[in-house]
Amino acid sequence: MESKLEILKASVRTVPDFPKPGIQFRDITTLLHNPDALQITFDLLVERIQNSGIAPNYVIGIESRGFMFAPTLACALGAGFVPVRKPGKLPAAVHTIEYDLEYGTDRLEVHQDAMPAGSKALVVDDLIATGGTARATANLIDNIGCYVVGFAFVIELRDLGGRSQLPDVPIVTLLEY
Ligand code: AMP
Repeated sequence: MESKLEILKASVRTVPDFPKPGIQFRDITTLLHNPDALQITFDLLVERIQNSGIAPNYVIGIESRGFMFAPTLACALGAGFVPVRKPGKLPAAVHTIEYDLEYGTDRLEVHQDAMPAGSKALVVDDLIATGGTARATANLIDNIGCYVVGFAFVIELRDLGGRSQLPDVPIVTLLEY
């Protein structure tokens, strides 16, 4: 019988050369289409988050694929959901962080009133590659006086060493490439 992780891994589609030549894009839409894989993903993430002792007040979803996982996790963990968005999308006053990309810079934003200072936050995205996006999100949360108490990703691209960029808190992942 296939293990749960085998079912999950089989549900992720790899698209070569997207969005540019040489990138192996790990597409989680095929996981989302599959009810068994979807259930396994949430069950395992919740189990591992709780076993790691992560007890957040808020689950932070990083635009855009973090939004596909973070609100459901927030419900299961009894926490609120906070979107961290690309620039110019949030309507009220924001805090912003700028971070370096391979070429140039990018920005992420969160509403100033999203979380009271001192809140504990779990940062969620579909995938960690170099870790730059998750680290910037963690810095943004620090800057608003809140604490990152953990990270959760469905997929980790291990060779890119992204976890070494993150603060020393528990990191939950399900699949490695
Ligand atoms: P990074 O900041 O390098 O850790 O990149 C993480 C972000 O880029 C996540 O939001 C991912 O959704 C996306 N990403 C990076 N590499 C890939 C890949 N090979 N397949 C799918 N998504 C990726």
